[in-house]
Amino acid sequence: MDEQGLAQFTSLSESVSTESVKARLKEMIAIPSENPMAGEPRPGHREKELGEYYLEQMNQLGMAISSRDAAPGRPNVFGVRHGDSERPSLMLCGHLDTVPTEGYVDPYSPHEQSGRIYGRGSCDMKAGLACYLEVVRLLQEADVSLKGTLILCGVADEEWQMIGSREIGRNGPIADQCIIGEPSDLAVCPAHKGQHGLFIRTFGKAVHSSIPEQGENAIERMALVINALSDYNEELASREPHPLCGHGRYSPGVIRGGDLVSAVPDFCELEIDRRLLPGDRAEDVRQDIKRRLEPLKVDDPGFRYEISDPSWDIPANDLPVSSPVVRSLLTSAQVLTDIPAQACAFPGSTDAPHLGSPAVVCGPGSLAQAHSLNEYVEIEQLTRATRMYLHTVLDLLT
Ligand SMILES: [Zn+2]
Repeated sequence: MDEQGLAQFTSLSESVSTESVKARLKEMIAIPSENPMAGEPRPGHREKELGEYYLEQMNQLGMAISSRDAAPGRPNVFGVRHGDSERPSLMLCGHLDTVPTEGYVDPYSPHEQSGRIYGRGSCDMKAGLACYLEVVRLLQEADVSLKGTLILCGVADEEWQMIGSREIGRNGPIADQCIIGEPSDLAVCPAHKGQHGLFIRTFGKAVHSSIPEQGENAIERMALVINALSDYNEELASREPHPLCGHGRYSPGVIRGGDLVSAVPDFCELEIDRRLLPGDRAEDVRQDIKRRLEPLKVDDPGFRYEISDPSWDIPANDLPVSSPVVRSLLTSAQVLTDIPAQACAFPGSTDAPHLGSPAVVCGPGSLAQAHSLNEYVEIEQLTRATRMYLHTVLDLLT
C-alpha cells in the first residue's frame, strides 16, 4: 500500500462505526438460523430468514444482490460491489447458520456486557458478517471506487455438511482471493487440517453367552483393533510436520457393538477421526490402518475387519503465506497493533477448501466461545476486524 493508500485507509479507518457494527450484529443474532443438522429445514432452523436480512442490508449499501438455494430454504446470498474491471476480485465470506441452542438460556436476546456482545452466533460467525457490511458502508459513504470486484457472500450449512460452500465451489462466484471471518481471535490463518472420519468394523460369530468358547466375539476383536492403533498418534508425530498445522492426529470417537448381553456379539464398529495435513490422502489413512490390523490375523485366523468409505471428508486448507491476501491481513494486523503478526493454522475445519477461491481464515471472536452455551464476541475485536478487512480491501482492490 503506497502513502496515498495509507492516508485513505487511515481516514476511512477513523470512520469505522462500532455502533453500526454492533447494531447489525445484534439484529442478526435476533434472527435464529440454527442449522437443522439431520432434521428438516424449518423457520428458526434454516438460513432463509437471515439470508433475506443480509440481502436487504447489502441492497441498501448499493450492492448488486443475488441468492441461490443450496437446498430448499437454505440459500447462499451474494452482494457485489463492482469496480473498474472484474479482476482482481476479493470475496468476504461467512456462514449464515449457527449450531443448535439446546440448553442455551435466551440465545436470541443479544445483550451487551463488559465490552462483549452475547448471543448465539455472536462470534460464530455473525460478527464477521456484520464487519463485512461496515466495510461496504465505509466504501459507499466515501464513494471509494475500486479497480476490481468486491463480493460479500453468506453461506448455508457450514456447521453440518457444508452444502452451501460446495454449491459455490461448483457454480461460483470464484474470486482471486477470499477471507473467511471465522472466529480466530483475528489471527491470520492460511491453513487448517482436514477432517476425515471412517468406520472400522469387526465381525464374529454369535452364540449364546453361556457358551462363549463356541463363538467369536466382535467386541473383543475391536479391543485388539483399538490396541493396534493406540500408538498411531506417536507415528503421526514422528512424520514431517506441516509448517503451520504441525502433525496429523487420530482419535477413536464412537463405538457400537452387540445388541443383547446374553449373546456373543458378531458385529462391532468404531468410528475414528483423523485430522489430515495438507497433502495427506484418504488412501494413505486406509493403508496406515491396514498395516496395523493385518498382523492381527496371525494369532486369530478368523479375524475379519472392514474399513468403510469416509463418514467425514473435509479437505485441509493450505494457502501460501506469500499470498497477497495473507500478506495484506498480516500487515494490517501489525499496523493496528504495532505488534508483528505471524500466520498460523486455524484449529478447526471451515468452508475454505470447498469454495473454489483461495481462502484465508481471519475473524473476530474466539473458538473457545463458539458452540458454547454462553457465546460472545469482544466489541474491540469487531472494530479491529472491520479495520483489518478494510485495509485488505483497499490494499488489493484500489
Ligand atoms: Zn463457524
